[in-house]
Amino acid sequence: PAGYARVAKSARRSSPSSLAVLVTGAAGFVGTHASLALKRRGDGVLGLDNFNRYYDPSLKRARHRVLERAGVFVVEGDVNDAALLRKLFDVVPFSHVLHLAAQAGVRYAMQNPASYVHSNVGGFVTLLEACKSANPQPALVWASSSSVYGLNSKVPFSEKDRTDQPASLYAATKKAGEEIAHSYNHIHGLSITALRFFTVYGPWGRPDMAYFFFTKDILKGKLITIFQSPDCGTVARDFTYIDDIVKGCLAALDTAKKSTGSGGKKKGPAQFRVFNLGNTSPVPVSELVAILEKLLKVKAKKKVLPMPANGDVKFTHANISLAHRDLGYRPATDLETGLRKFVKWYLDFYSKKSSW
Ligand code: NAD
Repeated sequence: PAGYARVAKSARRSSPSSLAVLVTGAAGFVGTHASLALKRRGDGVLGLDNFNRYYDPSLKRARHRVLERAGVFVVEGDVNDAALLRKLFDVVPFSHVLHLAAQAGVRYAMQNPASYVHSNVGGFVTLLEACKSANPQPALVWASSSSVYGLNSKVPFSEKDRTDQPASLYAATKKAGEEIAHSYNHIHGLSITALRFFTVYGPWGRPDMAYFFFTKDILKGKLITIFQSPDCGTVARDFTYIDDIVKGCLAALDTAKKSTGSGGKKKGPAQFRVFNLGNTSPVPVSELVAILEKLLKVKAKKKVLPMPANGDVKFTHANISLAHRDLGYRPATDLETGLRKFVKWYLDFYSKKSSW
């Protein structure tokens, strides 16, 4: 009963026109920011996260405390738990699901391939089944990834480009997710939007990502490794600031049409959309390091090595004209401005971690 009351309170919306959103992966980097942004504007938000130990669990717990202080309740559980999902959908008539729970990261697939299939394929299907059976059926917005472009070298990447050459198991599971989602849209009339995020960074970020561990290692005086592509030298990413990504997520939720339900085709096709959410200005990793050196006021100890075949791609660059047209998406933060905010958060968080 106590849990029920907290779920109901967290999911309460400020007006009938507000959304009621289940955010999976709520204690994750993007999930925390998105949940807070939804709550701030009066939407009902319930989080779900399994608090896995892929990276520093104390960072997830600290994010969780921030969410709880803002009135967002996070249920500890797995998206593979069909019975739990059924219970949540019974208690709350969610209008939307923002599905961010996943096994993220490209390189970890070398150590734990099963976790990718478990969360990104099995967990996704379990969630789609729950959405299908829910009454009302929620509109689903979920995180795909720029990694689906794989070995595609035609830049900038547009949603019409080929995605049949994934370079990692992570990318393969995101690509599989897009195809699975399409089948649920087609057969069951679920309204589905896939957002292909491009290298998201910012405060409360992920310690497994380069900008984060470079910051840590530069401050500790440790040697950092910069990879170069064997052909052109440059390895670059379309780094996208978290606030821009969150705006894109909220716009996707706001513009999502209602699901039409099974046999949806009779009532008109249900919505299936795919958008790039990037920054449209790729930056070489060497320049990322130069900006961090400037902001941290520390010279990095660097070594440069050829890029190993570990699932990373050389270059990412988003064409965002579709998201601009349909979502009004317009990224507003350049890399140096965003990194300044990240560094400020990092120094603050790790100087008084125990008090978060
Ligand atoms: P994250 O790892 O910080 O967040 C994911 C959260 O999901 C974690 O808190 C984790 O505990 C939770 N989770 C994982 N498996 C789960 C399961 N089976 N059940 C319940 N919870 C589970 O990652 P993030 O950077 O916030 O990424 C959010 C989403 O965006 C992911 O789907 C990721 O693949 C995608 N994405 C992220 C980036 C990026 O640069 N951050 C880029 C492209 C795509």
